[in-house]
Amino acid sequence: MENYRTKCIALLKDRGVTLDDITDCARFLQAEYHIDLKNEDLLESLMSVLDKREVQFAIMTAIELDREAERGQMIDKDLEALLRRDEGLYGVDEVNAYGICNLYGSIALTNFGFIDKRKYGIIDKLNKEGKDGKICNTFLDDVVGAIAASAASRFAHKWGK
Ligand code: MG
Repeated sequence: MENYRTKCIALLKDRGVTLDDITDCARFLQAEYHIDLKNEDLLESLMSVLDKREVQFAIMTAIELDREAERGQMIDKDLEALLRRDEGLYGVDEVNAYGICNLYGSIALTNFGFIDKRKYGIIDKLNKEGKDGKICNTFLDDVVGAIAASAASRFAHKWGK
């Protein structure tokens, strides 16, 4: 089967998320354990996370659902309304993101919960952008948080013995 990493990087970019935005979140999660950590130090881990098929599928699914909701093209208008207003009790966006974290163990899951609460960097931007009613980032913010959390977790495991 095809490797969709390049496609996923382009999809993310099209939704306003760059690789540097994600490494910045991963660096934020690891900063207290490493002096002078730079975003680019996390790039190798990020690229490895993005190389996994399950991660690519989660990204493709997230972005497609957000775009369909945003364009008003969903068949189920109730679901469309839930996604467009980023309903707090709708948790399927987080469940899609857990699928990414689950590949990287408990640190990834804890990191994801933390960055989701703290709304750092691009996560904050996506969240605010989604509040204007025009753009839907309901699935995307969680996927980006989970990728950053997983890249940070992979980086941590590389350093731990
Ligand atoms: Mg969300």
